[in-house]
Amino acid sequence: MTMQKTDEEWKKELTPEQYEILRQHGTEAPGSGTYLYEKSDGMYTCAACGQELFSSDTKFESGTGWPCFTEPALIKSVELREDNSGGMKRTEVICRNCGGHLGHVFDDGPKDAGGKRYCINSAALKLEKK
Ligand code: FE
Repeated sequence: MTMQKTDEEWKKELTPEQYEILRQHGTEAPGSGTYLYEKSDGMYTCAACGQELFSSDTKFESGTGWPCFTEPALIKSVELREDNSGGMKRTEVICRNCGGHLGHVFDDGPKDAGGKRYCINSAALKLEKK
């Protein structure tokens, strides 16, 4: 991680919703996120630190209620971590630059695009439109 801040600093800089998701590993309610139906071209960056995370080119409609992507913009921009919380076996997706929780990755993505589904909270993202 290159950006390290104290919990107090994050609390001050982020909105309560962003803080809950990015720093407390929260999940926004399905169907509620700002970017769920977003179709604009651009780069989705980390809402906490600005790291480029997902290109709009890889966004697809999954029907799950969260914005989904087939792959990260740069493989090194995210870190994958085993997550066994809540009685589920999942893979957590983390911003490698600031350690913020973004969402989870599943194996039920489009087969013709690698089969991965990066299921990401809108509140963890900021779209920089082209
Ligand atoms: Fe970040």
